[in-house]
Amino acid sequence: MAARALGVDLGGTNARAAVVDRDSGEIVASHKEPHRDRSPAAVVETVAHAVAAALEGAGDAARTFGRVGVGVAGQCLGRTGVVLNAPNLGWRDVPLGELLEERLGAKVRIANDLSAAAWGERRFGAARGVDDAVLVFVGSGVGSGLILGGRLHDGHRGVAGELGHVKVRPSRASTAPRRCGCGELGCLEAYTSGMNLAARVREELAAGASSRLGALLQGDLSRLSASVIDEACVQGDPYACALWEEVADLLGNAIASVVTLLNPARVILGGGVLLGCPDLRRRVDEVFQARVSRSALVGLTLERAFLGDDAGVIGAALLE
Ligand SMILES: [Zn+2]
Repeated sequence: MAARALGVDLGGTNARAAVVDRDSGEIVASHKEPHRDRSPAAVVETVAHAVAAALEGAGDAARTFGRVGVGVAGQCLGRTGVVLNAPNLGWRDVPLGELLEERLGAKVRIANDLSAAAWGERRFGAARGVDDAVLVFVGSGVGSGLILGGRLHDGHRGVAGELGHVKVRPSRASTAPRRCGCGELGCLEAYTSGMNLAARVREELAAGASSRLGALLQGDLSRLSASVIDEACVQGDPYACALWEEVADLLGNAIASVVTLLNPARVILGGGVLLGCPDLRRRVDEVFQARVSRSALVGLTLERAFLGDDAGVIGAALLE
């Protein structure tokens, strides 16, 4: 097997390509290119440029890579190469695998970006050597990646692990459930992602909710983020604390349910909302401990993601 592999991490803002050493997981060279236009044809060109620059950087420009792995921020129909829904790119039913195969002249394997990140962490990060691990990511979006029996589990159609779209608010509740970026109602992501949290707080403050968040941000609500809410909560702001209690309840319960269902040996936590908000994290841990099945807790460890932003591109390169 070739000693180097080629991977792409395709997000809503950038495409990043990297040449990865198969034995060490190290990134030999990488190149990130912003999208100027999110149409599929333009994104394919951006990916091709990023790939060419990464190959150049690695001194591999003359080499042919028969295979490229691509992690995409969206729901992917695994081996068919079709991106079903990528809200950050504004895509529905895009045959990305086929388009990239034509452009790059190589076999293309696509997967959800968090599946790719989980695989990266399994190979060279926080789940190295662990056969059953779950990556839970709560950042600008919410999702998970599943490693079961030592293999990436992306499900019958490739859309397994969509923890962000598990419904946490019944549609017949007294207040209407919030709509998620995926188009559905009441998803975990609609209540807990950084973007949705900021949007909700802005709405509630505009509607007259009382909080010291406005003062903390000197009135500039465009700077609102999960870490500012965390700070307000530490300072004892009742609005921020009530919000954190609700969010921690949802996240702690969701992680406990995943662990109860799948019995992983390790949970890897990633994303700015989980890793950048210590007060929220403490509350999530409390809810998790209270709700998880005792039998699934034995031998379980929770760890922070180790590879950070590199996990997706490393995992994509090494996808099987
Ligand atoms: Zn959703």
